[in-house]
Amino acid sequence: MIQFDVDLAVIGSGFGGSLMAMIGQRLGLRTVLIDRASHPRFTIGESSTPIANMVLRDLVQRYKLTGIEPLCEYASAEQAHPDVTLGIKRGFTYFWHRTGEPFQPQADRSNEWLVPGNPDDLTADAHWLRSDVDRFLFKQVRANSIATMENTDVTDITRDDDRWCVGGYHSEEPVRIFAQFVLDASGGTGVMLKALEIPISVDCMKTKTRTLYGHFTGVGNWLDAYQEAGGDVEGHPYRCDEAAVHHIIEGGWMWQLQFRNGVTSAGLVLDQDRHPYHPDRYPDEEWHLIVERYPTLAKQFAGSRMHEATFHLIGTDRLQRIAERSAGAGWAGLPNVGGFVDPLHGTGIAQILCGIERLAAILERSWGRDDMEAQLDAYSRTVRTEIELIDSLLHACYLAMDDFSRFKSTSRLYFVASSMYERRFRAGRIQPEHAFLCADDELLRSAVSQVVDRLTEDAQLPAEQRADAAAFDQWIDELVEPLEKNSD
Ligand SMILES: Cc1cc2nc3c(=O)[nH]c(=O)nc-3n(C[C@H](O)[C@H](O)[C@H](O)COP(=O)(O)OP(=O)(O)OC[C@H]3O[C@@H](n4cnc5c(N)ncnc54)[C@H](O)[C@@H]3O)c2cc1C
Repeated sequence: MIQFDVDLAVIGSGFGGSLMAMIGQRLGLRTVLIDRASHPRFTIGESSTPIANMVLRDLVQRYKLTGIEPLCEYASAEQAHPDVTLGIKRGFTYFWHRTGEPFQPQADRSNEWLVPGNPDDLTADAHWLRSDVDRFLFKQVRANSIATMENTDVTDITRDDDRWCVGGYHSEEPVRIFAQFVLDASGGTGVMLKALEIPISVDCMKTKTRTLYGHFTGVGNWLDAYQEAGGDVEGHPYRCDEAAVHHIIEGGWMWQLQFRNGVTSAGLVLDQDRHPYHPDRYPDEEWHLIVERYPTLAKQFAGSRMHEATFHLIGTDRLQRIAERSAGAGWAGLPNVGGFVDPLHGTGIAQILCGIERLAAILERSWGRDDMEAQLDAYSRTVRTEIELIDSLLHACYLAMDDFSRFKSTSRLYFVASSMYERRFRAGRIQPEHAFLCADDELLRSAVSQVVDRLTEDAQLPAEQRADAAAFDQWIDELVEPLEKNSD
């Protein structure tokens, strides 16, 4: 039996768990980091954003996380840590495809949208090859002499007087760790939610999607495909494929993220009402059936192979979930334990980092004090508020997806929310208790719910009775204007 006592037990060594373990140690807590797997291991959630980098930089400075600073930007990471595979991300790129037709760039650019995230290559964000980034951070944890336990499956967590008993197995050997505080960074597994039997809901969520994804090699270059089809890159603010590329198709979209080692992360995210889930259908078979309907994408993938990291495509059932709570007396879960919506616009990494910043502040201010539980309750409510806002926002984007112009107008709300958060953060107006993406801003919540209502009503109308693209965009302008004025 392996047995020891700590202040903080962190379960899950993704980037979130490793950062929390290092912060715990900086706060003077005796910390252990536990994972049932060992590094390197494949995982998804790879596209960083300007908010993610801004918050990571703040964490690095605040908690003196030496060695991690270069990760905040693509160029500095590549220079300082060439062994960590990344991809350059200059922004968010969207292309709109018609079923059965090759992608045909338009002179008025009506089927493409490039949203810059940063001004140049030097300050570009990065796609994180998670097997490398997570392994790098895990090594940093070890370099800081923090106790780590890989290949240790946590199977039960019980409360024993005023401390937790975290039980499991390291290979075959039983493990028992006594901890004052448990930080659940186990992602969708939600070990603490299971131990405390906290209800997780699906039906209350509006977005209804599933995914098929994997890592590929030999995927044809999108920029080449675009130019071969006559596309003019002259007016593009950045190289269109050096981005989180979203290819919008009927009833869903495909993400493409290029890493500099030739690997492409790609996934189809499908509206479940239009592409129902069949558990007996092989993901590879469904992938080919769908991709074949889009000749330019099919050509891109014609010579591709699955990368050894995944071997075959991974298929999921519905992605959405929200837990009744994600923190309580003596424990907290990272935001992705509290719930998940969908990869559209890539909110995951940034939301987790914002959650880490809030939890770190709670541990710093309230460790051993009576107000700790109230702070954790507030954290838990904030995570729910964030997930609910992201759910409404992305649901609106899916409602608008069949009409690219409406999709762009609707997605602007996400970019407005991001820049509101970014500006307030830089101005020092975001306090640890504030929600990611300003999800607690009443004006923003009201704007998002008006858009959801309108798109839901419009979906019942024949196309000719709906407002035209210009009128819809004008209406979004009017909704967004007070938000932009209010964002500083
Ligand atoms: C299809 C899909 C696409 C996504 N795309 C994006 C995107 O583009 N951008 C973005 O920002 N986010 C995205 N996300 C979200 C993203 O996956 C998560 O935000 C991110 O991976 C969470 O990282 P983490 O370190 O918190 O947890 P994880 O990476 O999930 O790590 C959890 C760790 O816990 C360990 N663990 C689990 N159970 C136990 C146990 N019982 N005992 C011990 N250890 C355990 C696991 O081994 C694992 O190492 C996506 C998610 C999905 C599903």
